[in-house]
Amino acid sequence: MTMNNKVAVVTGAASGIGKATAELLAKQGAKVVISDIQEVEGKALADSINSNGGKALFIKADVGNASEMEALIIETVKNFGALHIAVNNAGIGGESNAVADMSIEGWLKVININLNSIFFGMKYQIQAMLNTGGGSIVNISSILGSVGFANAAAYTAAKHGIIGLTQTAALEYAAKNIRINAVGPGFIDTPLLNGLDASLKQQIIALHPIGRLGKSEEVAALIEWLASDAASFVTGSYYAIDGGYLAR
Ligand code: NAD
Repeated sequence: MTMNNKVAVVTGAASGIGKATAELLAKQGAKVVISDIQEVEGKALADSINSNGGKALFIKADVGNASEMEALIIETVKNFGALHIAVNNAGIGGESNAVADMSIEGWLKVININLNSIFFGMKYQIQAMLNTGGGSIVNISSILGSVGFANAAAYTAAKHGIIGLTQTAALEYAAKNIRINAVGPGFIDTPLLNGLDASLKQQIIALHPIGRLGKSEEVAALIEWLASDAASFVTGSYYAIDGGYLAR
């Protein structure tokens, strides 16, 4: 239990990578706030962690809404006394269209939920961390934070944006004991991929030299390491976890 006495917030924690991360942080002894717009699934995860000896609380918040993100951090500190770890994970796939065919609404929605959210989250998380001497923030980008992918312009732009935002915030707060890093998963077997038809899924698998999709637990292990004191000299970095996708 390396995270006793730590308080963590995970957004998008009702499913996939966020869920696996919340479970792992709780297993390491952290008190975990499970945040999501999916209330039933989020509460069920908090209940399951609490009944397995961990400590968790569900707080509903839409990451695309700045005042809900502010309230999430205020409530976290009110309930658990501080904030040491934040995982800004919630995200959506969005509209699948080439640039000229993409709707304005589709573009704005993905940029809001996948990129503005990271700014909203960090704005309030950093303020809380400064009050108690520091912390660690992990922002979930993607392999599409460093390369393009046809028909996913908004997603790709948002994920690239997360990396610049992460590096800049890391520079600003490195001397104040707040480490800020980004993680770039390859394609991971979560409900986010539910919309893909079987043949596209096979083509996507073939882009990973390891020959399969990743698992949420594999990504959670990297997030947990970055969030932990074991990564005490790591800040401003972007870690791909992609079965070799970017090495091609
Ligand atoms: P998922 O769909 O399993 O989980 C995403 C969670 O985010 C869901 O519980 C959903 O309710 C929540 N969410 C969506 N919109 C929200 C909002 N406005 N406010 C709060 N919560 C919201 O997806 P996942 O695969 O676990 O994705 C998690 C993160 O990992 C995302 O940022 C995604 O872009 C990124 N990622 C995923 C993959 C992949 O292949 N699955 C690859 C690279 C990066």
